Amino acid sequence: MSPGLQRTGNAPAVPQVAAASLRRGACPSLAAPMQTGDGLLVRLRPTRPGLPPSDYVLLAQLAAEHGNGLLEVTARGNLQIRGLRGETVPRLAAALAEAGIDFHRGVAVETPALSGLDPQEIADATPLAASIRDALGGPLSMLRLAPKLSIVVDGGGRLNLADMVADIRLDALRGGESLFWRISVGGDAKAARAVATVADADALAALTIVLKALDGAGPAARGRSIHVDGLKDALASMATEGSPGTPPAPSPSPIGRHEVGMRGVLGIGLPYGAADTASLQALMRGLSGLGATEIRLSPHRALLALGLSADNVEAAAVLAEELGFWTRADTPGNAIAVCAGSAGCASGSFDTRAVADLLTASATDLLDGSMTIHISGCPKGCAHPRAAGLALCGRSEGIGLVLGGLAGDAALATLSQQAVGKVIENLAAKIRERSLKGETAHRTIERLGAGTILEAVQQGRQ
Ligand code: SF4
Repeated sequence: MSPGLQRTGNAPAVPQVAAASLRRGACPSLAAPMQTGDGLLVRLRPTRPGLPPSDYVLLAQLAAEHGNGLLEVTARGNLQIRGLRGETVPRLAAALAEAGIDFHRGVAVETPALSGLDPQEIADATPLAASIRDALGGPLSMLRLAPKLSIVVDGGGRLNLADMVADIRLDALRGGESLFWRISVGGDAKAARAVATVADADALAALTIVLKALDGAGPAARGRSIHVDGLKDALASMATEGSPGTPPAPSPSPIGRHEVGMRGVLGIGLPYGAADTASLQALMRGLSGLGATEIRLSPHRALLALGLSADNVEAAAVLAEELGFWTRADTPGNAIAVCAGSAGCASGSFDTRAVADLLTASATDLLDGSMTIHISGCPKGCAHPRAAGLALCGRSEGIGLVLGGLAGDAALATLSQQAVGKVIENLAAKIRERSLKGETAHRTIERLGAGTILEAVQQGRQ
């Protein structure tokens, strides 16, 4: 069993709550929690970039009092509390308000976790992000935008957001002394389609044109589906000639040690994105004792501890590892995306975290970080709503093994729960034996193809 993760028993009956609060398609918030198999779930984005460790002690306590005691950090760096009930959501909201912990509402506007502190950043994304939020809450509030619309404002730097998919991206570029923003739609920094590069002073006006175009395309319009030619024409008058540069390549993992000025920052991974109350409280109290003043949420299911002296970064890493958290980017579990599964969600048909533990114990050859292995209790695929190198997905007929696709895609083979461990072990052994020098696990699987996976499945069934 993974550290800090306990079976929660029978999922509680989902209470009657206002229909509007359970609407599909919207991000779950305190005002609109989402119904899941283990009760109600809220996803929270604090308005302050960082909170003191004592606030996380309180958050963990509230998760235990009002939910099932698990706190999660999502792949996009949001906080999740699950296992809530209709009557406990308002109590949670009241306790958070009383503690002065406030959260963003509406369209997600995301910035790098170290914005404003990172000496390597091209620009501090925070002021532009704040202007965008103000506009969305004010003059642009009448726009009909998709409930899950996301805007990334990436100032670059050590922990940039180049690999984060968004409907609209604004990527900072430096041209001499001047700051520009490259505006693109529907993807991460590499895949998103560029529509214009504009001067810093024009960024909000340019974004407004893109948002109005989405509004005009209908309330469900997303960045990936919008026509870019019309946008390019609309933005032509403010677009710069040529490009002052290209957005940076994706950052390394946030998990590990980082230097920010004279202080150290420790990126701490939550095992499979979750921690229980006792572990999280012990971590936060320990970090506070070592001098950490601020904890920031980070994409890739991590927390960043700020304010540590260089010496205390190591002590903090030892403490975190002792409590079962991850402090190394090459921790094999980082390559696995896993949902609550049957241990915490009524829709889950198998114990996903137990399978994740099997992988980390006996199939590390698959976990070199070259691909994500997605373990999903059902085809909804909450933990990784993107294609994964390999996915194991619970279905009525067994555990579907999907190669290079979404959890719900057609399975190459279906495994019984008893066979899954052996199949994984066989597959890892084949990768180890047949990989070429310097070849990653992902590349080896691509080269060997479905036949090798089916071979591993056959042998696992014997
Ligand atoms: S993907 Fe996992 S967490 Fe999401 S509904 Fe299915 S079992 Fe539940």
